[in-house]
Amino acid sequence: MSEFSKHSFAGEKALVRVDFNVPLNDKFEITDDTRMRAALPTIQKILKDGGKVILMSHLGRPKDGPTDKYSLKHLVKHLADLLPGVKVHFAEDCIGEKASTAANSLGNGEVLLLENLRFYKEEEKGDKAFAEKLSKLGDVYVNDAFGTAHRAHASTAVIAEFFPKNKRMFGLLMEGEVASAEKVLHQAAKPFTAIIGGAKVSDKILIIENLLEKATDIIIGGGMAYTFMKAQGGKIGKSLCEEDRLDTATDLLKKAAAKGVNIHLPADSIIADNFSNDANTSAAPSNAIPDGWMGLDIGPMAADEFSNVLKRSKTILWNGPMGVFEMSKFQHGTRKVAEAVAAATATGAFSLVGGGDSVAAVNQFGFADKVSYVSTGGGAMLEYFEGKELPGIAAVKA
Ligand code: AMP
Repeated sequence: MSEFSKHSFAGEKALVRVDFNVPLNDKFEITDDTRMRAALPTIQKILKDGGKVILMSHLGRPKDGPTDKYSLKHLVKHLADLLPGVKVHFAEDCIGEKASTAANSLGNGEVLLLENLRFYKEEEKGDKAFAEKLSKLGDVYVNDAFGTAHRAHASTAVIAEFFPKNKRMFGLLMEGEVASAEKVLHQAAKPFTAIIGGAKVSDKILIIENLLEKATDIIIGGGMAYTFMKAQGGKIGKSLCEEDRLDTATDLLKKAAAKGVNIHLPADSIIADNFSNDANTSAAPSNAIPDGWMGLDIGPMAADEFSNVLKRSKTILWNGPMGVFEMSKFQHGTRKVAEAVAAATATGAFSLVGGGDSVAAVNQFGFADKVSYVSTGGGAMLEYFEGKELPGIAAVKA
């Protein structure tokens, strides 16, 4: 059993770092509450034990101190709705008199949401004195904000040192994220296939390099595939291409060959004469795209090949879409890949989808519950798979 599950929070003030950085519309209504829901199991366990929950989070990127637009007060009502029967309080500050009075008058089984941590510049600077002030609000520190685990901020990392080892731990969300990532990185059953897609090669170089040490197969799709195509002498029309990464692409292909990792590039593409859902479209070999046309999705041959590779995989990591899936004309490839990942999962493969846009894609296509794990932490998961140590994880484990 994990540290968190074993711990009894009865009578304790649990200071929980959550990632409530949710999107709000002009009327301050939450347009996607996934991140809030993701923290509920952790909150509920503490409340069930008879503990007190003090939530700290950031929201947006406030530049000059307190700003109404970025106040966490806009989340209080929704949080209360998500926790029926639970008293949810709000403190207009995250440190100082207001915060400590609210924390100290909290009853067992109640929740306090603190004001936006980023109203203080010290948060992002990882300021030690600020972290210490925050730490005084709780008896035990729980980090459940995987989305910010790659940042060495005051509330995500530095604060941990002010709690003894048995009073600092990961929450259930963070535990799940870490366990899934570890399973893929360190205990992957083979064949292990990584699907890397999205717009830019430059964003994905480090992850591909790290996966060359671990994966059996790497599928490359999305806009980034065309830089690889051009690097191999292909004609790519006006498809996305990072001219300054052609050598990098060649280098990655050479390294993969040396290590015996199979790289799968899309044999064909759905091409368009315009970056638009109203464009004229056709299928073409990905290395022979006519001038004036661009590849916006993998083609039917590529989708079949990728699906076959995935269906025989025992471990799958998916980061990045295969095409411009936001437009209906160019979502077929991403959908086919999602189907193949789901089929492999149904026959026993472990599949992890991580990274903003592939997560959006599996949600959009209704596949979220057909894969083993959907990560909530885009940037953090990416850095984890780049082989970096995440400060938020290291600080709790230290
Ligand atoms: P990333 O954030 O790097 O994972 O990139 C995701 C974005 O890449 C999505 O918004 C996709 O629409 C876009 N994308 C995927 N394939 C292509 C493509 N062939 N051409 C242009 N953009 C693409």
